[in-house]
Amino acid sequence: MKSNRMINGLIIVLASGLSLQSCSTTNELAAGLPAAIVSVADDGTTTIDTDLLKTVYFDGASTPMTDPLGEWLKFMREEEKVARDLYLAFYETYKIPVFKNIPKAEQNHMNAVLTLMNVYGIADPASAENGVFVNPDLQALYNDLLAKGKVSLIEALKVGALVEETDIVDLADVYELSPGDDFKALAEALMLGSRNHLRAFNRVLKINGVVLLPSALDQSAFDEIVNSDWERGTGLCNGINTNTGAQYCGKGRGFRGGRG
Ligand code: ZN
Ligand code: ZN
Repeated sequence: MKSNRMINGLIIVLASGLSLQSCSTTNELAAGLPAAIVSVADDGTTTIDTDLLKTVYFDGASTPMTDPLGEWLKFMREEEKVARDLYLAFYETYKIPVFKNIPKAEQNHMNAVLTLMNVYGIADPASAENGVFVNPDLQALYNDLLAKGKVSLIEALKVGALVEETDIVDLADVYELSPGDDFKALAEALMLGSRNHLRAFNRVLKINGVVLLPSALDQSAFDEIVNSDWERGTGLCNGINTNTGAQYCGKGRGFRGGRG
């Protein structure tokens, strides 16, 4: 039992390592995300246990808040909303499961960003209204992609892939802002979600006979993501609260020891 679990974990580590390397996220959390934080449905819809993410990585966070990090959080909060609002609109038009399920995950991703915003007392820019954004670039992006996706189901699925690729690129930007483990963990969790959602949209396009081309990632990074299976976190003893030294060892086992 135990060795099987280890082998499964190692395979996932290897698989996720491949796609991470090429996404210019070379500074990712050294040990990866605990599998208990990540939940992946059969269609690839990926949600994050935000309470656990907070417990393992945010509590007692010591990242000094600087403007660029705060701006990045506000931007990502609204960019996750761009994804949610577009997919909700596409579901109204096309009624396919992927556009019903993934918006729920995007709401969860918005919540994860908000959780870290609350830790630092940053005001939430997100409008309660669908399709409305404070950031003018994101408003323009939403308007443009909504129009593109309304052309046909295939175009809407391609928009979905473009949004997920854009997310991956913008999430990786945090590494240029000297992030602490709290910011890295948030970015890693959301990037993992976006890679799974990119796989999900690619899968539905493939079923429809469409070969998807990359729009924001380079070809090799894109290929490594779409040619690998869903990522579920590493499942090993790797969630470490850097503040307390407590280590998270997977579902049902909770924290094991502290530093002292
Ligand atoms: Zn997302
Ligand atoms: Zn997504």
